Amino acid sequence: MNKGKVFFIGAGPGDFELLTLKGKRYLEMADCVIYDRLVNKRILSFVNNDAEFIYLGKENTEGGTLQKIINDTLVEKALSGNFKNIVRLKGGDSFVFGRGGEEIEALNKYNIEFELVPGITSAISVPEYSGIPVTHRNIARSFHVFTGSTADGEGIQNFEIISKLEGTLIFLMGVKNLENICDGLIKNGKNPNTPIGIIEKGTTTNQKTYTTILKDIDKIVDKVTPPAIVIIGEVVNKREMYNWFEKKPLFGKKIIVTREKTQGEIFSREIEKKGGESILLPTIKLTDSMDKFDYSTLKNYQGIMFNSPNGVDFFFKHIPDIRIISNIKIGAIGSKTASQLKKYKIIPNIVPEEYLSENLAKSMTEITKENDNILIITSDVSPISEKELSEKYKRNFKKFIGYFNSKIEIKREILERNLKNATHITFFSGSAVENFFSNLEEISLLPNEIKIISLGPSTTKVIKKYIDKNIIQCEVYTSEEVLKVLESN
Ligand code: SAH
Repeated sequence: MNKGKVFFIGAGPGDFELLTLKGKRYLEMADCVIYDRLVNKRILSFVNNDAEFIYLGKENTEGGTLQKIINDTLVEKALSGNFKNIVRLKGGDSFVFGRGGEEIEALNKYNIEFELVPGITSAISVPEYSGIPVTHRNIARSFHVFTGSTADGEGIQNFEIISKLEGTLIFLMGVKNLENICDGLIKNGKNPNTPIGIIEKGTTTNQKTYTTILKDIDKIVDKVTPPAIVIIGEVVNKREMYNWFEKKPLFGKKIIVTREKTQGEIFSREIEKKGGESILLPTIKLTDSMDKFDYSTLKNYQGIMFNSPNGVDFFFKHIPDIRIISNIKIGAIGSKTASQLKKYKIIPNIVPEEYLSENLAKSMTEITKENDNILIITSDVSPISEKELSEKYKRNFKKFIGYFNSKIEIKREILERNLKNATHITFFSGSAVENFFSNLEEISLLPNEIKIISLGPSTTKVIKKYIDKNIIQCEVYTSEEVLKVLESN
């Protein structure tokens, strides 16, 4: 029988990009993943969908029965013969209060092979995201990492020794015992005015930092919720100058993106770069139908209008020879469609000022003659009427549906979970709005205060069918503008 191999991967502290390249590569190979509570679920998207996903986590990392279940599950999966690469994914690093050692010992009993991929531990990275260096020249020449709780709940640490250390003190799992830790240090001689920082949910958009001095801990103790890092020492004061992450323009905002997956992912990255959290809930799927187009008919056309970047991609995916469009005038509906054309080395002849298909049709008259044939590449939901345009602009407009939009069903529990703490929702098209609300069933699932960002008037019109408050419409109909609106609202 072939035994599986177990890969212990440190997932980092929260920001999913703090995963290592090696960790990502192994996740891509995994056929079974066992993960815990502190792992950012975005990381799981690197794993093949067909893999088995097993969540084994609980509110606290200490705990005997759960650990036994984890050990047994690892062994069982490795011995089953059904899996080749089993990933054990842990928050931070597996060996920093991660109980990686116990799991390895369980595997050793059955001679199960394993490998370790270190992760970025929260002990240093969370303070860093809060602008607190763990060491600093002339201030702290060492840092010491402790657990702030023990399995048996007795004698957290030997404060007599700890309070004599000159370096920075860092406590993990310390929220529950915050007052005991501060008391223990003060009683054993630590200066009561020593700065202390507590950083909750570090490296995520929900990060919160509290700072005070040891003797004043009672003023903040009730505000803090785990997971949090406790950091004690003069280095905490550096935050005043080094704070960076919490100053990002979208920090603290949880934004739902309803866009089609490929574009939604690009947009999500932009949100994340600005410090926001993106929740990608695509409501639209696009299906290419350009393969049904007879490209030899292009010889009859004098113009082509592209109504979206997607249409451009599908059109060029199937074109047999680029030269067949060399004599055709090309119009793009807006800057995005124009830059998509540039990827295929086409500079559009015209891009109208305002992003509307009616305007593009009108602009096409500037570059074509009366009775010329103009092809429109568009989607099945486009309201364009070839007849109306042909009558109005004295050209023969002919529409070809280059791709179909279809609705993606989102499970109720996924919607509920993701909508719960969202601050903003973004809509880029009327069809995304329709699909989203038909998935929603009950409007009350939408948080009362949520701000609805609409790309433009036609999208807003559809939103208003369902809800008529907190709608903010962009003045320029581009995704850059949506980002700007998100920053200022
Ligand atoms: N192996 C992990 C630590 C597991 S112990 C690591 O290397 O980071 C769990 C403790 O880690 C939590 O109680 C908390 O103190 C700390 N922690 C982990 N992620 C955190 C985060 N994003 N923000 C604040 N503290 C975090």
